[in-house]
Amino acid sequence: MGFLDGKKIVVMGVANKKSIAWGCAKALMEQGAQVIYTYQNERMKKLVVKLLGTEANLVECDVASDDSIATAFATIKEEYGNIDGLVHAIAYANKEDLAGSVVDISRDGFSLAQDISAYSLIAVSKAAQPILNDNAGIVTLTYLGAERAVPNYNMMGIAKAALEASVRYLAADLSPQNIRVNAISAGAIKTLAVSGVKDYQKLIEISKDRTPSKVGVTIEEVGNACAFLISPLSSGIIGEVIFVDKGVHLS
Ligand code: NAD
Repeated sequence: MGFLDGKKIVVMGVANKKSIAWGCAKALMEQGAQVIYTYQNERMKKLVVKLLGTEANLVECDVASDDSIATAFATIKEEYGNIDGLVHAIAYANKEDLAGSVVDISRDGFSLAQDISAYSLIAVSKAAQPILNDNAGIVTLTYLGAERAVPNYNMMGIAKAALEASVRYLAADLSPQNIRVNAISAGAIKTLAVSGVKDYQKLIEISKDRTPSKVGVTIEEVGNACAFLISPLSSGIIGEVIFVDKGVHLS
């Protein structure tokens, strides 16, 4: 018996077995949920099929495109009916904006990172809203760089600040419909996305060093917190950013 028995949850952002979204999907399934995965494009689909060993429960969704988002959620509605939650684990910025000086960030680079990493939460929440059941949860992933100037995190820190503000406004907007929106601020973990940040190994090492236990957080630990936040067990938590970083944020 799991606390998500019979629930259907959409997980956006699995790229491979190191993805935080994969940690979330595993934890959701451990609690009895059925997971529906969205993937960005054909290249990503191949990776996800390799990981899952099946093409079942996969839906294409490129969050850069309103049409792709609309088609994805229409497909989900048609094939699965209503859903009980949504995990948004998606971010992107140009490599040159994750290094060097913040004053060199271009207008285009700023827009792109904000669009994919922050606006997409608003866009997918709108698309999911009509098919979300009562007491559903939406969870997104953020990082400490939203509130502190972390070396090289630059453009993504700015986008994550917008993402965290979006969580609070969406939460206020959607909670009257009994849809809860929250974020997990995860500690640094070696994934495809993090390798875009210059000297990311240093970021992960520093992060590990700053945990009181000197042990970094895992995708499974982030996933367990995600399962809780998606579930009605967290019914009192609305518009919150919860650190799941083994205490890095304490120092
Ligand atoms: P990841 O590379 O495994 O996942 C990033 C995902 O974003 C990929 O699946 C990619 O396909 C998807 N994506 C990018 N552009 C997209 C688009 N246009 N449409 C649809 N999908 C798109 O890396 P991750 O580290 O697991 O990242 C997941 C989330 O966790 C991100 O929001 C990231 O910023 C956040 N996060 C990561 C860390 C870390 O240290 N790895 C820490 C805190 C927060």
